[in-house]
Amino acid sequence: MSRALGMVVGLEIHLQLKTNSKMFCSCSTEFAAPANTNTCPICLGWPGTLPSLNQRAVFFGLQGALGLNCDINLESWFDRKNYFYPDLPKGYQITQYQKPLGYNGTFRVGKKDFAIQKVHLEEDAGKINYINGNMEIDFNRAGIPLLEIVTEPEISSPEQARNFLRELRLFFLYLEISDCNMQEGSLRCDANISMRKVGEELSPNQVELKNMNSFQAVARALEYEGKRQSKILNEGGLIKRETRGWDGGKQKTYFLRSKEQGVDYRYFSEPDLPPVLLKQEFVNSVMGNLPRQPVERQKKWTEEWEIGEEEAAVLIAQKPRAEYFEKTACFAPPQEVAKWIKENLLQFDFPLEIPPEDLADIINRVGVGELSSTKGKEVLQLALETRKKPGEIIREKGWKQVSDEEFIKQIVEKVLQENPEVVQDYLSGKEKAIQNLIGKAMKISEGRANPRLVGNFLASKLKERENNG
Ligand SMILES: [Zn+2]
Repeated sequence: MSRALGMVVGLEIHLQLKTNSKMFCSCSTEFAAPANTNTCPICLGWPGTLPSLNQRAVFFGLQGALGLNCDINLESWFDRKNYFYPDLPKGYQITQYQKPLGYNGTFRVGKKDFAIQKVHLEEDAGKINYINGNMEIDFNRAGIPLLEIVTEPEISSPEQARNFLRELRLFFLYLEISDCNMQEGSLRCDANISMRKVGEELSPNQVELKNMNSFQAVARALEYEGKRQSKILNEGGLIKRETRGWDGGKQKTYFLRSKEQGVDYRYFSEPDLPPVLLKQEFVNSVMGNLPRQPVERQKKWTEEWEIGEEEAAVLIAQKPRAEYFEKTACFAPPQEVAKWIKENLLQFDFPLEIPPEDLADIINRVGVGELSSTKGKEVLQLALETRKKPGEIIREKGWKQVSDEEFIKQIVEKVLQENPEVVQDYLSGKEKAIQNLIGKAMKISEGRANPRLVGNFLASKLKERENNG
């Protein structure tokens, strides 16, 4: 008989910090540089060299840890994690093991707070590339600062894992401490997964999943692994403690290595680096200056400004877009601004080429009926192309919407005269024919007539004819 099993997932996220130079030397962190050009005796681990700590990496790490509501170790230090692997030039990785920068944090996704076990700094390893059957090692990545975030095993479905990662990525993008580019490897995620019955202890035999290069892949790998483990357990088997990779082509996990023996990394504190000492006042000031987070912004938009959830999600997806939206919303009704951005401007890079006040100006002119919405969009287009002020464009083009009654009356008469068959349609009961007539009137006025007044005039003229007929 098969048992209902629940999934227990913990995530380990590695984030490359957006510093210009590496963690312990002055080599560049540029992504696209030719292989092994961003290297020096320090990051290549030559004997006799000494590391010196990148202050900015610590600052970014502190921002990350504080943003995740962690407690901060005012004194933390680095350790050596000893193991042999070809991409590790020193034979050890410098990481924070005994005293992480931050611990005991939380991160909110939707209505749930997920516990963060720890946040610590470490250096990246080099990269192994397989080219034409050869193994080539690129040490450009060796020594790039990483922030590792370890969650408690509290995630209970592939969907939850994906949402967590999406929100976490957005959070780091708003902090501006990483590019968070999964394709370029500046955001990487491993997952520990095991299955258990409700109320059962967490199994020590967790399977670690690696090589997932998108959030979609993480979700798929967890789903596959959940089914695989459930099947084994339901057939009376045992799950082995192992590391498995994700094969995106076959949509399967596969065995990478066993963890049966457990690796002894012989950790000890790094003798070449002093401890990282932080003053409480400094930590407080970093905390006080954290940029406003996406969740906070969205809450304000939806609750105070009454922006729809869907529009808010579109606006929040990129920080420059969100900031441009907020600035524009200082000068025009936020709901209108949100609608304009969503309907007309998503294909552009933000901040837009025109100042927020100018976009607001166009929106307001449409709002008070000075411009038709069609003409408003044209003004926007021209403002983006020419960088001219909306007022100037409208003056030059003579696009001010006309509400002059005499002008509109003349146009309406003309339309009625020229389109007897449409009028007949309307009089014989096809009410929608009036839209056709409004369209024709707008065309004659080159979009300048106030469409609401045109509609009103047409309706009353048609009514007259109805009564006379
Ligand atoms: Zn270097």
